[in-house]
Amino acid sequence: MFLPEFVNEKEDGTLECTFWCLNCDKNHVVKKVPRNGYQRWLMNNEFVQNCFPEMDKDERELFISGICPKCWDEMYPAGNPSDTGEENEIEQAPNILPKSILLGDK
Ligand SMILES: [Zn+2]
Repeated sequence: MFLPEFVNEKEDGTLECTFWCLNCDKNHVVKKVPRNGYQRWLMNNEFVQNCFPEMDKDERELFISGICPKCWDEMYPAGNPSDTGEENEIEQAPNILPKSILLGDK
């Protein structure tokens, strides 16, 4: 679970979540985040794919591991789990990923 740096409420009732990518140190804004889904994710620790079924898988990854879609693509140029439609692989990977990135080059 990775919390956004900022959350802005929009007039249409959705949220705009700004994340600071752990890998490239740049911000990435996820728009049209459903407010009730966000609350369920935050309060109940529900899976992001249940809370944000409409969201792009690469963007959901930000909520899981704090890695932006661009970095995710660079790390997994081939065999990207989002190409296969398999939800299970995504669920397992983030537990390992952030640590290895943080401990890696720095
Ligand atoms: Zn990044």
